[in-house]
Amino acid sequence: MAKLTKLDDIVSLCKRRGFIFQSSEIYGGLASCYDYGPLGVELKNNVKKAWWKNVVQMRDDVVGLDCSILMHPLVWKASGHADHFADLVAECKKCNTRTRVDHLKDKATDSAQEHTEHVAIAPGATQDLSKKVCPSCGATGNFTQPMPFKLMFETQMGANIEDSMTLYLRPETAQGIFANFRNVLDTTRVKIPFGIAQIGKSFRNEVTTKAFIFRTREFEQAELEFFCEPGTDDKWFEHWKEQRFNWYLNLGLKKENLRFREHEKDELAHYAKGCVDVEYKFPFGSGDWQELEGIANRTDYDLRQHQRGMRTLNAWYETKGDLSKIKLKEEAEDYLKGPLSYFDDEKKARYIPYVIEPSAGMDRSTLAFLVDAYDEEEVRGETRNILRFSSAIAPTKAGIFPLVNKDGMPETARNIFNDLKGRFNCAYDEKGAIGRRYRRQDEAGTPFCITVDGQTAQDQTVTVRERDSMNQIRVAIDQLKAYLRDKLDM
Ligand code: ATP
Repeated sequence: MAKLTKLDDIVSLCKRRGFIFQSSEIYGGLASCYDYGPLGVELKNNVKKAWWKNVVQMRDDVVGLDCSILMHPLVWKASGHADHFADLVAECKKCNTRTRVDHLKDKATDSAQEHTEHVAIAPGATQDLSKKVCPSCGATGNFTQPMPFKLMFETQMGANIEDSMTLYLRPETAQGIFANFRNVLDTTRVKIPFGIAQIGKSFRNEVTTKAFIFRTREFEQAELEFFCEPGTDDKWFEHWKEQRFNWYLNLGLKKENLRFREHEKDELAHYAKGCVDVEYKFPFGSGDWQELEGIANRTDYDLRQHQRGMRTLNAWYETKGDLSKIKLKEEAEDYLKGPLSYFDDEKKARYIPYVIEPSAGMDRSTLAFLVDAYDEEEVRGETRNILRFSSAIAPTKAGIFPLVNKDGMPETARNIFNDLKGRFNCAYDEKGAIGRRYRRQDEAGTPFCITVDGQTAQDQTVTVRERDSMNQIRVAIDQLKAYLRDKLDM
């Protein structure tokens, strides 16, 4: 039976094999920022491609978008982030460590009240922390009163002091989609129901990070805003729940490690009609089950808010861009006719569309795929570390080796590599004993290894070894491409 995976095993494999490195490692590292190495970038690109294929390419009702990270500051006023995107933190009076209040555990019950909504930035809050334990030094009930801690990173734009303005690194990609809703409507032939999808970097100055790439301050999200007619939203919510859950299953996550968690009523943002998380059973953290993706029914909130934001533009100029001095304009009485409303030609009806939003973390799901694929097994008295990736996300599809470096074998193996490399990501390797080369590809999660040996010169066949079963069969060189295409389903 496979050993229970520990995060440490994954971290060490990722480092050893060049999947993931600490950012700025030569300078001692930068906390909670990570770099993807040669294998890691292939893996994460494949996860992103699989998402895009499933959510955009395979459908006729979703189009893609790629927005800039820096946006007009009013976007964040309208979306609510400028006033509400903060976590409540308390500082331990003994060791000065700040912790998210919803991550603090109770001494007696060992339970943390997780999954709270973000809090309003202006006021602090009174909470009873007398039984809570500091995760850093263990002191009990020795905290300052909780205070909101802003999660958005600020930066300055413009070279001249007079016209320089404060901008934010986007904390989610979704708002770029809402801001382009009208552009997409006016320039494409989409009709409601339809979705706009985007993959891109987001930034949050998280209070607590840890757990490798699970929670970082710079990360990548894949978000879909699916616009539908009010009244059809429940149906589309169920549709996307099922789609998204199956996406993880089809890419190989084990069913027993995946579940839905419905949000409680008091957890929901005030505008949300429903929200469910897809959770994965990670081998760390409190209670193991952790959010991979959130799927929310956001109603017509965002588009309505942006209509208010657009009406606030003049006030913004008057305050020279100081968001704290601006109050968002009230909704226009005829807001249903506003610029972000939709006119249904067939029904001759105008409305502000409802939005179903599946929002996934690409780094977090990459971690889930790594954890889920990781296995160790005994083979002839030796431990074999293996990543059992599904073929769609495996960084390398085939390793190609000459058995020995003579008798024309390297040349033949090179020719095979050159023939396959345009179609599949392959690795050529002629160094070390063949068994070691197999092990290296097992650790990289490569589904097939192709070896040119003594028999190849005689009958133009090669040995193809399958990663999971370690079965070996002979395949004719001129059949290799078709064989791999069939087996890899690509
Ligand atoms: P959490 O409660 O874990 O802070 P959230 O509910 O605020 O997350 P969302 O705003 O719903 O997260 O973001 C959607 C997805 O983006 C999450 O399900 C997660 O996969 C990913 N994500 C969010 N924050 C981070 C982060 N700091 N690092 C990595 N991925 C993240």
